[in-house]
Amino acid sequence: MPEGHTVRRLADRHRELFAGQPVAVTSPQGRFAEGAARISGAVLLDTEAYGKHLLHHYGDVSLHVHLGLYGKVTDGDGPVPPPVGQIRLRMANPRHWLDLRGPTACELLDPPEVDALRARLGADPLRADAKPDQAYERIKRSNNALAALLLDQSIVAGTGLIFVLEALFRAGLAPTAPGRTLTPAGWRELWADLVDLMGKAVLSGRIDTVRPEHEPEAMGRPPRVDRHGGEVYVYRRPDQPCLVCGTTVSRGQLAGRNSYWCATCQKGAS
Ligand SMILES: [Zn+2]
Repeated sequence: MPEGHTVRRLADRHRELFAGQPVAVTSPQGRFAEGAARISGAVLLDTEAYGKHLLHHYGDVSLHVHLGLYGKVTDGDGPVPPPVGQIRLRMANPRHWLDLRGPTACELLDPPEVDALRARLGADPLRADAKPDQAYERIKRSNNALAALLLDQSIVAGTGLIFVLEALFRAGLAPTAPGRTLTPAGWRELWADLVDLMGKAVLSGRIDTVRPEHEPEAMGRPPRVDRHGGEVYVYRRPDQPCLVCGTTVSRGQLAGRNSYWCATCQKGAS
């Protein structure tokens, strides 16, 4: 599933390509025909990313998109190409077009519904209005595993498995450590690291989490080969040596997801 930086990049790109002008909106597949007709011809005022949610604001109504596991957005310049596959939503102006396929959510929300969506989402490390203190209030009262708490979008929004597992490694915290064991200083450090890592991923379009001394060139090792790209410490590196201490990276199940960690570098890991 795309993590928050991908959604932020989409919001920025859609603003750049389409904001400030009327857009033609259709649903070649037909499943969003009614909604598309309602916004077609309107001026796209602004776009917004909140966690993994993408919003296109048209004033009295907003388009809400959640890509989920299979959603995909493509765009291009020039005339709109003939539709291929199941295109839920297509938007275009005379210079650019955009296709959305396979989203979990593609719907219109009125302003109170947009407010309700924002209200149920936690602190987004990519947003200036994030309230990390509120997230910590939830974390410090919980016996749940830190990784599960950080993946809970009502606590922290936009983080997925890669950012969470990598930030926990960088902080030396076990993914299974209970939330209540995280100190205020530990949370400040973890939050600042998420802001930094995710901000860099918005710029580069990939998730890199290793410090300069652990990059392939610095260590004289081959770069990572993985369709997710990016240099990471533990994510999808089971049975390989930890880049810091050489211990074999562990894999386990946590909250129904694969979890990866170094039992030596991360305190309390088992
Ligand atoms: Zn290690």
